[in-house]
Amino acid sequence: MITAKGLSRQTPRWQAAIADAIRDPAELLRALNLDPALLPAARVAAACFPLRAPRGFVARMRMGDPNDPLLRQILPLAEELESTPGFVVDPLNEQAAQVVPGVLHKYAGRALLIVTGACAVHCRYCFRREFPYPEHHAGVDGWQPALAYLASDASIREVILSGGDPLALSDQRLSGLLAALERIPHLQRLRIHSRIPVVLPERIDAGLLDVLSQTRLQRVVVIHANHPQEINEAVNVALNALAGIGVTLLNQAVLLRGVNDAPDTLATLSETLFAARVLPYYLHLLDPVAGAAHFAVKEPAALAIMNTLRQRLPGYLMPRLVREQSGQMAKTPIEACH
Ligand code: SF4
Repeated sequence: MITAKGLSRQTPRWQAAIADAIRDPAELLRALNLDPALLPAARVAAACFPLRAPRGFVARMRMGDPNDPLLRQILPLAEELESTPGFVVDPLNEQAAQVVPGVLHKYAGRALLIVTGACAVHCRYCFRREFPYPEHHAGVDGWQPALAYLASDASIREVILSGGDPLALSDQRLSGLLAALERIPHLQRLRIHSRIPVVLPERIDAGLLDVLSQTRLQRVVVIHANHPQEINEAVNVALNALAGIGVTLLNQAVLLRGVNDAPDTLATLSETLFAARVLPYYLHLLDPVAGAAHFAVKEPAALAIMNTLRQRLPGYLMPRLVREQSGQMAKTPIEACH
């Protein structure tokens, strides 16, 4: 049975939540009681990179506050339309790292599989906001060249599912993909990069936990939370469920001006994540993607934040400040010169 929104009665709750996400800037402004004067610019910016925000994520934002740190991550702004020298469409030159459709092989021992272009949320600072997914993800029936590539290189021990958001795939498609990966004998680890456990925790349901429980591969899920306000009770429950089936949980965040560029915020983020069984992993300097320059934090300011953070946190709760640079064999740690 298909309903008015094109969803079947059997549609999982999380898929219904994606279909029901807020896509119209006017609706977002109304929902948060924000000044309608923000609308014209939001509409123009959304025409370049559409707004998408799950209602459960919007519910964690403060009413009437245009500077809310969660809102700033998803609200299209006039600043996105300004062109800034050095901020480009493909800042990491990822298209050059593609070895077969859907596979980026940049780092030794690991290969990254772009399994979908879909995300549950659209983050305005995303370094793949301009990525031409239709040409570069492995496609609905197109896993074969990617799988053949992974099978042909015995040095690859770890496969990283990326996107888009790999947990936007249905359980059925994910389970088919994992079954194919498991048949490649040299693969040992499966890493999933996903913002979904944070923005759409209902996705971590019994079906997904079953799929992830059945694989022989060691599992790592790298979530993406930038601000402690993102971790509500539902997110806590989802993360605990993943940890409960033996998944190693790490977090990567992006240092964003006006969102989390304060030691207090980052300290609380690390502590909140650890309480939810997640270890801080990376804090990325912004990748210089066109349309996101207003989020950039300069390196000296980032180092000053890290110095203060170090005085607040035990070493195991300190994320590593890194920058990704096109053509480098690993992420570049950003450290003060002595
Ligand atoms: S969820 Fe990740 S891939 Fe999707 S828009 Fe946000 S940062 Fe980009």
